Amino acid sequence: MKVTQHIQQAAGKPLFSFEILPPLKGQNIQSIFDGIDPLMEFNPPFIDVTYHREEYQYKELGNGLLKKQVVKKRPGTVGICAAIQNKYKVDAIPHVLCGGFNREDTENFLIDLDFLGIDNVVALRGDAVKSETYFRPEKDGNQFASELVEQIAGLNRGIYLDDELQNSAVTDFCIGVAGYPEKHIEAPSMESDIQFLKHKINCGTDYIITQMFFDNKRFFDFVDRCRRAGITVPIIPGLKPITSKKQLTQIPHRFSVSLPDELVREVISATSPDAVKQIGIEWCTAQSKELLQNGIPVLHYYSMGKAESIKAIARKVF
Ligand SMILES: Cc1cc2nc3c(=O)[nH]c(=O)nc-3n(C[C@H](O)[C@H](O)[C@H](O)COP(=O)(O)OP(=O)(O)OC[C@H]3O[C@@H](n4cnc5c(N)ncnc54)[C@H](O)[C@@H]3O)c2cc1C
Repeated sequence: MKVTQHIQQAAGKPLFSFEILPPLKGQNIQSIFDGIDPLMEFNPPFIDVTYHREEYQYKELGNGLLKKQVVKKRPGTVGICAAIQNKYKVDAIPHVLCGGFNREDTENFLIDLDFLGIDNVVALRGDAVKSETYFRPEKDGNQFASELVEQIAGLNRGIYLDDELQNSAVTDFCIGVAGYPEKHIEAPSMESDIQFLKHKINCGTDYIITQMFFDNKRFFDFVDRCRRAGITVPIIPGLKPITSKKQLTQIPHRFSVSLPDELVREVISATSPDAVKQIGIEWCTAQSKELLQNGIPVLHYYSMGKAESIKAIARKVF
């Protein structure tokens, strides 16, 4: 079932959902199930699975030369989605990237998803590969998430790349995209970011899911700006509890988001790893409760495979 249908069907009852990432290559699917099992009591209607593009590694050949290798450290997004749908009977949502795919690869990827009975996708541009500064699309690939949305929405109307295909089947994907309450790192201004977000919606997006934020005011302001710009689709907030002191520097660096002074002060003065986790749980619980008081239909948690804090929050909120 589509995310938008889940929201409609819930008729105002708040929904709990979360995102997981595939395990590092070499680990088995059990690590995924171990991250999902503790959260199933909160009846998630859907679970997102991230996609991780290739990275370049340079291996010394021993003769002073380096060999460039292309590696995917976290493969398995599609297999994990199929396994989730099969085992838990819950909608699994694969993230689909522009990066690393040409449009033909994308089309074939979407056909696989459709055949597996996957009804939802999140369409993303993806970041630059780690060794490069700027994102570069593949030759004949999509450059912006909006182009990817257009391609998926096209397939929903039976438009394939080969325009000689006759009587081709239509897909029926519900399409989510990313939104950034604190602006995407490359966007020159919030206004331009929202205008490009609006363009993504106009290309066929059904809902927005946000980057994590730690101050609800950022989210409420973002929603206001979107609504004033004429964006009417549901906006699902993304939440992440802090679980370690090192995240105080990792999170701003990696996701280009800020942490409120009060939260930072509390985490710095915590005297044990458990105390940090507890602060993260309490902060995120307070955020969650305030969002629900304001009528937000779905709360989406970035579990990153670690269910413990999310479970503690969900117990207090749902
Ligand atoms: C909820 C969520 C889930 C994510 N999941 C993943 C994942 O699974 N795997 C992964 O690798 N990454 C993931 N990311 C990270 C994401 O891929 C990066 O943030 C990426 O840098 C931007 O992706 P986007 O889809 O927002 O890009 P876009 O919407 O294409 O925007 C990228 C930038 O280009 C600008 N822009 C857009 N259109 C135009 C245009 N026509 N002309 C000029 N500028 C334009 C935007 O303002 C923005 O600054 C996720 C992010 C979020 C918020």
